[in-house]
Amino acid sequence: MVQAVIPELERVSPSSISAFLLCKRKFYYQYRLKIPRKPSRGKDLGSAVHNICESWILYREIPDITGKALDCARALFPHLPVLHTDQVEQKIRLEIPGFPVITGRVDHWGYSHEYDNGSSSIIESQEVSLGHSYVRDNVPKILVSDIKTLSDFRYVKTHEQLRDDPQAVIYCTAFASHGNPTFRHLYVRTTPPHYTKVVEISYDREELKSRLVGILGTVYQMMETYSLPLKEVAGNTNMCDTYGGCDFRCHCAAEGIQSLGVYSPRKQ
Ligand code: SF4
Repeated sequence: MVQAVIPELERVSPSSISAFLLCKRKFYYQYRLKIPRKPSRGKDLGSAVHNICESWILYREIPDITGKALDCARALFPHLPVLHTDQVEQKIRLEIPGFPVITGRVDHWGYSHEYDNGSSSIIESQEVSLGHSYVRDNVPKILVSDIKTLSDFRYVKTHEQLRDDPQAVIYCTAFASHGNPTFRHLYVRTTPPHYTKVVEISYDREELKSRLVGILGTVYQMMETYSLPLKEVAGNTNMCDTYGGCDFRCHCAAEGIQSLGVYSPRKQ
């Protein structure tokens, strides 16, 4: 049966689904009450690195940015597409009856071939049709990539965690009409030395379909949670100190929810 979509929750993003899976309260503060997240140097750095990489992919130009962002982006350059492509920052939109529209934005995507030396590169679709002798198999793989900046590589996802990641499933579902997609997280460490790690997984369409059903189950719970008053929304205190600390610790502390670890007002 198709249920009615809550008018206020017309749209969900992979990040809102991930926030909900981490902590329902976090989701509620951020997406229901729309409490702004505190500004952070980490997020600013992430945006600057994305801008540099995008400018490099599209125009082979590096914006006039120096310092940490450029150093991080340089570490990523060997993993970025080697040919000019406009397949950057692709918006995605999945419309499923009875559910909010799922929207997102991938950093870049393209067709990838493995070279004989084992390295890979994203190449444009026109290039694929020419047929290259160095292509191992003649079926191009669809590569969907997202850049992640992390100060601590403890949070790099394992293959199993990435396979479960709503972002990976949703983005790959959006590209599944092109073939069986591969999803890649390109991690760059924001503290020196700036090294990178690539974690990559592939799905077939059947697996994507069944994982999407699981995600829709989560979206359904999000819709239910959206209608609750705050006091009925449970927090997950195991998550308060992960990923550099939850932005909403002061709000939870004010509500009497104790986070694990020490709450410091100066950090908020
Ligand atoms: S402080 Fe902890 S319980 Fe509160 S919203 Fe954040 S993660 Fe959830």
